[in-house]
Amino acid sequence: MKKYYEGVSTPCYIVDERLLTKNLELLQSIEKRTGCEILLAQKGFSMYATFPLIGQYLSGVTSSSLFEARLGYEEMGKEVHVYAPAYRENEFEEIMSYSDHIVFNSFNQWKKYKPQVEAYCASHNKKISCGLRINPEYSEIETDLYNPCFTNSRLGTTLEQFEQGLEALGTLEGIDGLHFHAMCEQNSDTLERILDAVEEKFGAYLGEMKWINFGGGHHITRPDYDVEKLITCIDRIQDKYKVKVYLEPGEAVALNTGYLVSTVLETLQNGMDLAILDTSAACHMPDVLEMPYRPQIIGAGLPGEYPYTYRLGSATCLAGDVIGDYSFPEPLQVGDQLVFTDMGHYTMVKNNTFNGINLPDILLYKEETGLVQVKSFGYEDFKSRL
Ligand SMILES: *Cc1c(COP(=O)(O)O)cnc(C)c1O
Repeated sequence: MKKYYEGVSTPCYIVDERLLTKNLELLQSIEKRTGCEILLAQKGFSMYATFPLIGQYLSGVTSSSLFEARLGYEEMGKEVHVYAPAYRENEFEEIMSYSDHIVFNSFNQWKKYKPQVEAYCASHNKKISCGLRINPEYSEIETDLYNPCFTNSRLGTTLEQFEQGLEALGTLEGIDGLHFHAMCEQNSDTLERILDAVEEKFGAYLGEMKWINFGGGHHITRPDYDVEKLITCIDRIQDKYKVKVYLEPGEAVALNTGYLVSTVLETLQNGMDLAILDTSAACHMPDVLEMPYRPQIIGAGLPGEYPYTYRLGSATCLAGDVIGDYSFPEPLQVGDQLVFTDMGHYTMVKNNTFNGINLPDILLYKEETGLVQVKSFGYEDFKSRL
């Protein structure tokens, strides 16, 4: 049996601190060269055992909910930014207690919560910088599921809505910044074109702002990413409008830093070779089905690339819970470990216990200690949510 990791219980995620540090060093170099600030988008990666490390390099976190705001505040303790499409009245006071920046989705939300922000800041002697999310109505994302600028999108204020809202309210007083998020796994040439659209539409207002947040979706730590062009983009906007630029990547922080280790439970045949694993796409790597995409497995290839091709399926009863077809140099055996790569981001944060499938353990590889277990889960984690 092929074992990559002895003594671990599968399925498990393993995040390698050395790989994470490499990403963080690159991100920090961009902060240093431009004076921009980079925040971790917790939506993509919330493994807070790594937050003290991330906090050594990045400026803080961005959050899309009360819980994320609290997690970032308690576990990293640096800047906390929040954006949500709409805030809940019963959570807003607590959100303010954690937040340095609050971004509103519309003039309507801003109008609703502005008095509360002002009152809270005055009574707590705190500064909360408020911003408005704009929709530049330009993006290059092909998959609607990940495209905040698709037709009839609820995310952000279009120029038309902005102008109407401003006319009704009469002032931008209290709005320090603009925020857009219009990218997904993209390079800086896409950012450049989005900035053209942002400037064309909202340039007249940018001069009145203190900051602009370029959102996430910047695939900065991918080997072919053009970092120099990103720096040119940041400099261009900072110099022209005298604003501070924020970036809030999620995926780029944890890109290629984590593995999902699983074990073959059974092999069988139905017109082709099949294998059943102790992990599940639906439960442990939902983007494989949602995006959809094909994760890499160490030592495996495309169907037919090696002599033994298998369709890898999950341990759930969902017929379509299939990870994909992969080929191997040797036949698979029960007990073999299969290691999926790049499983740090958008996995742990999206896990579920559908079908009563247990959550994978979470492990961290540290230079000083080797592999350490951060979390393991059991029946109570399944039961307590039902
Ligand atoms: C999802 C999201 C991010 C992070 O996106 P990545 O693709 O993980 O970099 C940042 N900001 C906002 C508003 C988001 O919705």
